[in-house]
Amino acid sequence: MSMEKAAGLVIKSINYGENDKIITLFTKESGKITAIAKGARNTKSIYVGVTQLFSYCNFVYYTGRSFAYLNQAEMIESFHKLRNDLDKLSKAAYMAEVINQAYEEYESDESALRLILNLLYFMNEGLVAKDEIILLTFQVKLLGYLGFAPDLRCCQKCSKEAEYFWFSWELGGLTCDECAKENKNAIKCSKEQVEFLLKLQNMPISKIKNKSKYPDGLLPLTVALNKMLEYHTGKRNRSFDFLLNNN
Ligand SMILES: [Zn+2]
Repeated sequence: MSMEKAAGLVIKSINYGENDKIITLFTKESGKITAIAKGARNTKSIYVGVTQLFSYCNFVYYTGRSFAYLNQAEMIESFHKLRNDLDKLSKAAYMAEVINQAYEEYESDESALRLILNLLYFMNEGLVAKDEIILLTFQVKLLGYLGFAPDLRCCQKCSKEAEYFWFSWELGGLTCDECAKENKNAIKCSKEQVEFLLKLQNMPISKIKNKSKYPDGLLPLTVALNKMLEYHTGKRNRSFDFLLNNN
């Protein structure tokens, strides 16, 4: 067994046996790690807080043959306000599940870690005008990091460049009026929505704090981007239903 150190976010936490927890961490140093936290279900355990979903900590763990075992943890940020607000909680839980589905064990992506940490922080502190913007930013940027950035500049079927107002998750971007007729899953978007999404796709994450103007009706876009994420990860996201029910 060797001892490792990593700063990571708890993206999944489940009970294991009578006393333990299995936590999934997304870390800068070693990517996604699954670790057993012995005794963490005991209310007096030093691991109670640090093994909660969304806890961002400095972790020390031993790597065994098939599992890692938590040895020490020091809280950096607990994002505790997210747990007291069902709407914020549902969005944060969705982001954590998507990250868990998109990356394999020991696969790392520092950009994706920075993205989710920043967005959890903005949502926890209430720094963005609308939490829906946080969700869309997460989806559109993560798709880009995974190599599947939606193309918002021309029709994905016939390559015509114009102001198209349809978005197709199947085609991975915009489609023109003509091509949208053949694509039943394409959703109608306003010019403002497409331009807004393009802005989110290209601007630094910190800039979304300054966005006070945003178009209405962003939910269908979020649904379409979730379909894209589910298609590329090959996994159904259960937290998304919870999110829709709390919207
Ligand atoms: Zn077309």
